[in-house]
Amino acid sequence: MELGYTRAGVRPTAGCSGPARGRPGRFRAPTAEPRTIGLMDSAQRTVRPWLMLFVVAGAIFVLAGFVFLLPLAFDEPQAALPPVARAATPEEARVALGRAAKALRAGDRVAYRAALPASGVAARRSLGELFRHLSPLPWTRLTLLGTQVPGVPGRFDVRAVGQLGRTGPRDRIGGERILDLQMLASRVVATGDSTPPAVRRQYLMSFHDPVAVSGNGLLVLADRRSKDRAEALADAGASARTRLALVGVEPDASVLVSVFSSLEDLKASLGGGPDEDRIRYFSHAGPRLRPRPWRILDIGVLGPSLDGTGAWMPLMLSHEMTHAYTKQWFAKTVHAPTFLLEGLATAVEGGRDWTPLREEVATGNQLWPLLDAMAAGNLWMGSSNEQVRLAYLEASAVVLYVLDRWGLAKLRPFVTAVADSDLTEGGIDKAVRESLAVSWDEFYAGWKDYALALP
Ligand SMILES: [Zn+2]
Repeated sequence: MELGYTRAGVRPTAGCSGPARGRPGRFRAPTAEPRTIGLMDSAQRTVRPWLMLFVVAGAIFVLAGFVFLLPLAFDEPQAALPPVARAATPEEARVALGRAAKALRAGDRVAYRAALPASGVAARRSLGELFRHLSPLPWTRLTLLGTQVPGVPGRFDVRAVGQLGRTGPRDRIGGERILDLQMLASRVVATGDSTPPAVRRQYLMSFHDPVAVSGNGLLVLADRRSKDRAEALADAGASARTRLALVGVEPDASVLVSVFSSLEDLKASLGGGPDEDRIRYFSHAGPRLRPRPWRILDIGVLGPSLDGTGAWMPLMLSHEMTHAYTKQWFAKTVHAPTFLLEGLATAVEGGRDWTPLREEVATGNQLWPLLDAMAAGNLWMGSSNEQVRLAYLEASAVVLYVLDRWGLAKLRPFVTAVADSDLTEGGIDKAVRESLAVSWDEFYAGWKDYALALP
């Protein structure tokens, strides 16, 4: 057949078995060599019945084979074919993830792969990342917690949850993956990964090659190449801690400090935020399984901004540690005004030049009147660096003024009373009267005198 001809519009020839044109004699074999015909005929006559018998017997044999053997082939196919996969149940996932978590914490990569093997590039890479980023960290306890994704059998939201060193909480989230878990034979195998890009490097997964340094009530995490920064911070913890006594804080539990190598890493860890690009040092509620925040905040530091800070580093650290430990003062108040949070932290930090505050008060406190700053929801939003700096000084002077005139015992009652007010002039006046037994006007006048006398 030359079906190729049809492309040129020629009807295909039916076959090539017909005699070739112009050479008709070539296919007339029966007329050639007539002398051998007689011998062939006698031999064929004796062979043909036997041949027929063999053909019939063969046909019967083949038929019998189909009838008896074919059903057997269908009876036992599982042993030879690959095992059929099915979605893993939550219980099957729990057992496999539990074994994988144990191996991860022990840093045993072989046991980790055996506990939860992966099939396919995405799942293998995803599980490999969890091991690489989380296994070097000093876990006191660690589990991989799989929650069934509704409506998708075998798909689990897997979170690495545990406690780091002696820091809280016990249910800190270290990393998260959305994995497809299937049963292949008797094993749970990760066959797919659909983790959203924003989640891939979230939490503790933002460190490239993590190291942990602990000391002075701090557990500092950093990339290996920033280990000297982590060590410097842990050292600075010694003098930073003693400064907290100013506001009556006695650190009772370790604080986790993350030193990020870049703003990109910092944002990745926070899952995209913060929007504030000026952020260098900050405190935030560590991500945990339970919705209620842990009583002590985590501290975050943009690593490169530590370089060359010298003597200011312990002061910066004491500022963030104050946030970490005093956040719980506001756990049950109606508001947690940035003004009060920053006032406590900046007072502990110390070492700032008071000149801008003295000038502001001397010129009538017009730029950011104390009452407005106190009631501001967020001191940073829409404010220049100069305005933020001024507000921090105003707030710090409020804390120092209360300490100076009423003593440490009245500081926390004052702060929480204001935070619990409606932050109007009337509300703040009432809070000041209740906590310090003076009117707002008297407080404000005394504060201005105090501010003008600052060095
Ligand atoms: Zn602060």
